[in-house]
Amino acid sequence: MNIHEHQAKAVLKEFGVAIPRGMPAFTVGHAETAAEQLGGPVFVVKSQIHAGGRGKGKFEGLAPDAKGGVRVLKSVEDVKANAAEMLGRVLVTHQTGPAGKQVNRLYIEEGAAIAKEFYLSLLVDRDTSRVSVVASTEGGMDIEDVAHATPEKIITFTIDPATGVWPHHGLALGQALGLKGDLAKQATKLLNQLYEAFLAKDMAMLEINPLIVTADEQLRVLDAKVSFDPNALYRHPDIKALRDESEEDPKEIEASKHDLSYIALDGTIGCMVNGAGLAMATMDIIKLYGAAPANFLDVGGGATKEKVTAAFKIITADPNVKGILVNIFGGIARCDILAEGVIAAVKETGLKVPLVVRLEGTNAELGKDIINKSGLNVIAANDLSDGAEKIVKAVQGAA
Ligand code: ADP
Ligand code: MG
Repeated sequence: MNIHEHQAKAVLKEFGVAIPRGMPAFTVGHAETAAEQLGGPVFVVKSQIHAGGRGKGKFEGLAPDAKGGVRVLKSVEDVKANAAEMLGRVLVTHQTGPAGKQVNRLYIEEGAAIAKEFYLSLLVDRDTSRVSVVASTEGGMDIEDVAHATPEKIITFTIDPATGVWPHHGLALGQALGLKGDLAKQATKLLNQLYEAFLAKDMAMLEINPLIVTADEQLRVLDAKVSFDPNALYRHPDIKALRDESEEDPKEIEASKHDLSYIALDGTIGCMVNGAGLAMATMDIIKLYGAAPANFLDVGGGATKEKVTAAFKIITADPNVKGILVNIFGGIARCDILAEGVIAAVKETGLKVPLVVRLEGTNAELGKDIINKSGLNVIAANDLSDGAEKIVKAVQGAA
């Protein structure tokens, strides 16, 4: 789960991290009040969307040379005028995709005098089963670009969960960023705070880009992007409350309500599969036969009729879906139950596109029987590749 920059900063502040003063604003009035309270002389108005690259982003409907999604301003009047221009407008950055994201809230922050910009992130490294720290002197740029052009400028080290942060980690960070004296001490302190926050809140990733040195030699977190491990959210009601559903795909929200693992994609073939591995294989084989999946969907091992119905509705609600492939391997889940779910869903939503069903495993025959007797126009498939071939043909034939 992702959160907004202003929320991430508030979470980090709980752990003592030094961040510039700032306030979220949902209306022009809020923005004005925030600016008055901050007092200036420099204000930064920052678009709050779940995507990076806001500074270099472009607003739809504004002149090409208009300011981007992060604006440095000098007066309360300017804050007001810019907030009015930004709120409700769609911001396109290289991370939002061409459709962009509507800016529904802003963060009004005091302007910092930037002497240097660094990159710093913490993430779960599955190879070492540890938290990795990634640091670079090349802040304010995309770390992917830095990794490509000048990989030697990225320094990585890991922290052993059994012992936590040691003084040598702090030294390593200070050295990586070329910091000396008090700034090196500040880096050590920051690393301890970030690591504590990372563990305490079950973060999956914490990215600070840029981390800055101010003109008066203070280390400050200027941008913060945090994502949390969704499997641990049950023990963090405070974090769960920060979820902003307007930033998520409505189909994915609906799926999460039914405990379905669903990810929207941009192909044309809707997939309903049980088991994540089988779902991945199904997507691959659809590609192999020349089409693209409209989604990843794992209905899970203990899929009930209700769950299958919900899943089917989510798939058919997607206007890009031109055909559906149901691929079920009955293990714990029984094919007859899933077949009933499919039938119930089709009866409720109607079937406007070709549907191919492949059932195998526990009660497969019973499941096939239910589908055959339903009178619905369903194409039966014998195995995975047969199913993929049939649905791709059906979709391409219809086009
Ligand atoms: P994004 O990464 O989405 O573009 P950032 O928060 O990193 O957004 O802001 C982009 C750039 O704007 C930063 O690299 C920094 O140069 C500048 N900036 C952001 N916040 C401030 C601030 N409070 N004071 C001064 N400059 C800022
Ligand atoms: Mg940034």
